Amino acid sequence: MLRDEDRVFTNLYGWEDWGLAGARARGVWSNTKDLVAMGREKIISEVKESGLRGRGGAGFPTGIKWSFMPKETDPDRPSYLVINADESEPGACKDRDIMRFDPHRLIEGALVSSFALGAHACYIYIRGEFYNEASHIQVAIDEAYEAGLLGKNAADSGWDFDLYLHRGAGAYICGEETALLESLEGKKGQPRNKPPFPAGAGLYSCPTTVNNVETIAVVPEILRRGGLWFSSFGRPKNEGIKLYSISGHVAQPCNIEEAMGIPLRELIDRHAGGVRGGWDNLKAVIPGGASTPMIPRDACETALMDFDGLKELQSGLGTGSVIVMDQSTDVIYAIARLSYFYMDESCGQCTPCREGTGWMWRVMQRMVKGNAEVEEIDMLLEVTKEVEGHTICAHGDAAAWPIQGLIRHFRPEMEQRIRDYRDRVHARGAQPIAAE
Ligand code: SF4
Repeated sequence: MLRDEDRVFTNLYGWEDWGLAGARARGVWSNTKDLVAMGREKIISEVKESGLRGRGGAGFPTGIKWSFMPKETDPDRPSYLVINADESEPGACKDRDIMRFDPHRLIEGALVSSFALGAHACYIYIRGEFYNEASHIQVAIDEAYEAGLLGKNAADSGWDFDLYLHRGAGAYICGEETALLESLEGKKGQPRNKPPFPAGAGLYSCPTTVNNVETIAVVPEILRRGGLWFSSFGRPKNEGIKLYSISGHVAQPCNIEEAMGIPLRELIDRHAGGVRGGWDNLKAVIPGGASTPMIPRDACETALMDFDGLKELQSGLGTGSVIVMDQSTDVIYAIARLSYFYMDESCGQCTPCREGTGWMWRVMQRMVKGNAEVEEIDMLLEVTKEVEGHTICAHGDAAAWPIQGLIRHFRPEMEQRIRDYRDRVHARGAQPIAAE
């Protein structure tokens, strides 16, 4: 279990003052000037050494992403940092608590990270529904300006830095980094074709790095304690500590900061009070947010909560958002509900996603009732493979993976549902299935 002295987010539950005075008492802004004085290269090399990988879902190494930014500052093409605070993945609720209860940690991270990227301006793009979170961030930004921590010579660092908060309108796809940039520019929030990638042509066609809230908020602490401290947690290529969100059929749903690679069972038992009705009552877990394939109870026994541990189980760490489902769960219905979500949130640009998500949802609706042929399970699986990897952004994958996980682990339950439906129909007088 992570020791208290190793925690970064020491006000995760909002028990202390989230304003500037409280943040200072927790060590935020304590030596920001010294962190900036380390210089761009040293900061980037420390972040690389820490092993930090993006906490927004994709898990790309942060230091390497930063090194794609231009070394020289071009006044005609300024560099930007954009912080993705759109957190809309069902099951994910960690970034909102950073913003609600520790906004200055994020703001300090924005300053130090922007300096490392050569950016004098940073935008926080926040999900529209996050009213309280946006309010806290704005109050904290105002406090920081007043205290000289933002603006000209921010925090006495010699770096001029402005930070803006932008509220989105609540579209899930704006969490995709290029859709986010389009939206920030005032356009329809639709993902861009890549390349070019944002580091080459991002916001206003200028060099841009887009990072998740948690990723940026943890940077100052990595620099204070050293990259080696951070990389001492977890396993190679899966280093560090992170926030996990645990929801669903557990005694005590929560956000918790833990070392990467913590066993899933320990995470649930120790921090979330265990599965409702006991571990044996567990049916399946979605380990990394709605888009990651579910894993059944047997696999949950040994699953390690990091990138490689969950990849081995044909799932993913995603945002580290664990959704627990006990034996009372109709897993077919649960995945059908997610299919509806991904259909509803498709931006409609590419045919496999626009048409495929609707088709998958319609078939899933029939699978819930059992009003289908057993062979259609393979057809459904085939369609998910046709959508996966054939779209502009990862939304197509996100729609396909939950269904793949369902079929991989609960095909017998799906087949039984179909047989039961047939039996019911026959018992009522052998009506044609399609008439039901
Ligand atoms: Fe839009 Fe879906 Fe294509 Fe992404 S995959 S660009 S959400 S249609």
